[in-house]
Amino acid sequence: MTLARRGGTDVELSEVLGLRPEPAAGLLVALTRRCPLSCAHCSTASSMDSAEHPDGTRRVQLLRFVRSFTPEQRPEVVLLTGGEPLLLPGLAYELTRAAQHTGARVSLLSGLFFARDAGRIPAPILRTITALDHFSASLDAPHEREVSRADVFRVLARVLDAGVAVSLHLTGSGPDDPYLAEATAAVIKEFGDRVPMLVNEVRAVGRATSGRTVAGPGGPCAMAAWPTVAPDGTVLACCNQRTVDLRPVPPHLRLGHIAEDDWPTVRRRTLDSPRLRLIRTLGPDQLRARSGADPAEGGYCAGCRALPAAPGPDDAAAAGAAGRLLDQLSAARLRAQGPAALLRRYGCAPYAHLVRPGSPV
Ligand code: SF4
Repeated sequence: MTLARRGGTDVELSEVLGLRPEPAAGLLVALTRRCPLSCAHCSTASSMDSAEHPDGTRRVQLLRFVRSFTPEQRPEVVLLTGGEPLLLPGLAYELTRAAQHTGARVSLLSGLFFARDAGRIPAPILRTITALDHFSASLDAPHEREVSRADVFRVLARVLDAGVAVSLHLTGSGPDDPYLAEATAAVIKEFGDRVPMLVNEVRAVGRATSGRTVAGPGGPCAMAAWPTVAPDGTVLACCNQRTVDLRPVPPHLRLGHIAEDDWPTVRRRTLDSPRLRLIRTLGPDQLRARSGADPAEGGYCAGCRALPAAPGPDDAAAAGAAGRLLDQLSAARLRAQGPAALLRRYGCAPYAHLVRPGSPV
């Protein structure tokens, strides 16, 4: 059967990652904690038993939040994640159309649980995928024990045929993991340069786009640029899974809740928070050192979560026009370095060039 594209304007993985340092240029939405797969390394501790699955009220809140975008005030890209967002194909479809209506583009990351049936795509899921501007699938060794690589490739080929941009998110234990060398070579052999790859290591810190845990290398934190809606509706300033799961959220990393706040409010808080400007431009390690705090046990993100709640002199300085300008310059510098540079820092460095396979980086 030939698949028909149902609209949207493609966005490639490199474009999404190119925007990653830009404050409020993107929004991550974790629709549910539920997932039918049982991958051993799952970064979101997802299972089908999770209570963090949207009821009718939460669905209304999610739609209201996305419908509060305007053509002038919207993220450039919305990333739908989970758990498994395609457990909710109707909701994902409605959110996609609402976001696209304002000019935002939508990407979704799936574990392809449905592909176990010889790569067959059920009709409601097909409708959602062909409405997207980008479709990403997970691939790693534990995941291949749940969904075969052949089935993943079958689905990707069908989605490509439908004219939707695709990518793969691969995860390994590190640069020397033989799985990563073998799997990336297999993807290139199958698809040439048509399937860009985001290759991560299972380490302790943020998520470069969505769905996977990656490292925090010290210095400024670009992961504090995009708000994340957690499955319980809380909006956080970053996508680090431990932070997303932590309640109460440290005040400097909490942007609101979709029951009370709309996108313009969350966007303004993201852009204007002095503490977030400092995390994006100096980073948590330097902030702790400047405030006289000891290095935090647990490293980079633990230190960020444990930053003193009380504003200090740095916060006062970052609140003004100079702080805004520094934030803008920092984002512009990171964007100029390009998506491969971002992945050399936050992903698995030897594979960073695969964000744009076939192109010089
Ligand atoms: S350093 Fe802070 S803002 Fe950045 S990923 Fe870690 S917890 Fe989030």
